[in-house]
Amino acid sequence: MIKAFDFHVPVKLVFGEGRHKEIGPLVKQYGKKAMIVTTGPLFSETGLVQRIQGLLKESDIGSVHFSDVSPNPLNTQVDAGAAVAKKEGVDVFIGLGGGSAIDAAKGMAVSVGHNRPIWDFCIGENVAEITEKTLPVIAVTTTSGTGSEGTQWSVITNPETREKPGIGNEFTFAKVAIVDPELMASMPPKVTASTGFDTFAHAMEAYTSRIATPITDMYCETAIRLVARYLRRVVRDPDDREARNGMAFANTLAGFSIAVAVVTTCHALGHVVGGISGTTHGETLAVMTPHTMRFSMKYNIEKYSRIGMLLRDEYACPGKDSLEDGVREVESLIEDIGLNTSLSALGVKKEELGAIADGVFSYMDFNIDIDPRFPTRQELMGILEKSF
Ligand code: NAD
Repeated sequence: MIKAFDFHVPVKLVFGEGRHKEIGPLVKQYGKKAMIVTTGPLFSETGLVQRIQGLLKESDIGSVHFSDVSPNPLNTQVDAGAAVAKKEGVDVFIGLGGGSAIDAAKGMAVSVGHNRPIWDFCIGENVAEITEKTLPVIAVTTTSGTGSEGTQWSVITNPETREKPGIGNEFTFAKVAIVDPELMASMPPKVTASTGFDTFAHAMEAYTSRIATPITDMYCETAIRLVARYLRRVVRDPDDREARNGMAFANTLAGFSIAVAVVTTCHALGHVVGGISGTTHGETLAVMTPHTMRFSMKYNIEKYSRIGMLLRDEYACPGKDSLEDGVREVESLIEDIGLNTSLSALGVKKEELGAIADGVFSYMDFNIDIDPRFPTRQELMGILEKSF
């Protein structure tokens, strides 16, 4: 019996090698002056930003480049970008990079459209509503990935409160997602590994989420099989085009899935850890995923018992040990892509663990609510201590 469900992902997907060259006419539908948002000058050094600016010019679109965005983008950087955009008369944003650049671009589009600082839309009793005033965003992803090009989510960190919520609704989807594996070829192996693990975590968490749908299930199963086939390969050989393509597609499917089925306890913890300790998103998830799996797996036996099979890209489960088999497959993937570490090695301090557990209940509560097993504070502390 197929249960009732909604599926709403209003993003035009432009997928394939070389497709970033089509950006001019795609942007032209939405504005006359674009702000290209990147994390640091990286892409201006490789000439990509200038190439994009040239392509925009061919379609009579003016552009400014804003590069003052860090990994785990800050609300202050979003506000600074929004101020420049207003001064320059920007009417469309291009997030060019990984999740950080795309999320910052979405944040700026919200801030400029409503003429308010982005934090007003993030946390608090009087949180402002994001409306149709949000300016359009074109997302060009260079990692695989956060899936941000296919989601409504924008993850913003406040360095003062050390909170890192994900915000978004139907108005924060990118109008167009350009997923061009050519742009991912320059990722260093460590970024390939951590962003690739994020893709796996999205697929597994959306698959096992209490609000999973039949469509997201199909996407997630395929995404996990693609990770199994290609992530180790592309970490070993950054020039493996087939593997880059496969991971780019896995990222796309997992991104569409978390737009609908969202993410669960591991991401809830991962956001708060990132907000407090500034850790790399994918690495943080890799440390905690085996522990969150063991915590939740008996509460959705049907789904968790397939994880090992999917991660071997096989079609038969190993039988009664299949739950623990799935965790072992994940641990072996983490080991093989070089992400076998701990929260303490990532710079998290023991005395911060209590604040991390509290942060989950304070602003990531929706995500633990849709996990198959709702954790108590003590149980979250247990997961954090095992990951430490
Ligand atoms: P990132 O965007 O922070 O990039 C990591 C580093 O890699 C940066 O220094 C960046 O400049 C560099 N980089 C990116 N692409 C490159 C390339 N092709 N070649 C060389 N270097 C490259 O990493 P990310 O993991 O893509 O994004 C992480 C952020 O996204 C976090 O803030 C995370 O919380 C957020 N996130 C958002 C969503 C969403 O749906 N919006 C989902 C998951 C995570």
